[in-house]
Amino acid sequence: MQINKDAVVQFHYDLYLNQDERLESSRNTEPMAYLHGAGNIIPGLEQALEGKAAGDQLDVTIPPEQGYGPHKEGMQQRIPLKYLKHVKGKLKPGMQVPVQTDQGQRTVTILKVGLKTADVDGNHPLAGKTLRFVVDVMAVREATAEEKSHRHAHGVGGHQH
Ligand code: ZN
Repeated sequence: MQINKDAVVQFHYDLYLNQDERLESSRNTEPMAYLHGAGNIIPGLEQALEGKAAGDQLDVTIPPEQGYGPHKEGMQQRIPLKYLKHVKGKLKPGMQVPVQTDQGQRTVTILKVGLKTADVDGNHPLAGKTLRFVVDVMAVREATAEEKSHRHAHGVGGHQH
């Protein structure tokens, strides 16, 4: 079947920055699974997958507006180190760490570590970046009623709960 609203899609991907710097790959693990049309993946990739079928390969370049959004100014903050005490190991600039905020959990990038505070940047690490995905569609199936009500895919590569 073709990928359209409420299809569950399994795919393998390589993510490149600057066209040929490979940043991530799913190929030595299980494929990733998502529910099409539910905003589970970035808009540019979801649009590129529309209408595709198992066996198709895509090579797609996605601008920041269709990816993780622009890199915003004013997202830098100084926070007490006690908010980072769950992080294992020594805090270093460039590390991406989860932080609990009023809006739920967010990933921030450490800019500078002081004695009692750390400066962090709340932009998504891929904000402002043009991304290139090489994707292989592995399987496409109809979502179950439970998946549709949860707005995400279950099973291999999807939500486990
Ligand atoms: Zn679920």
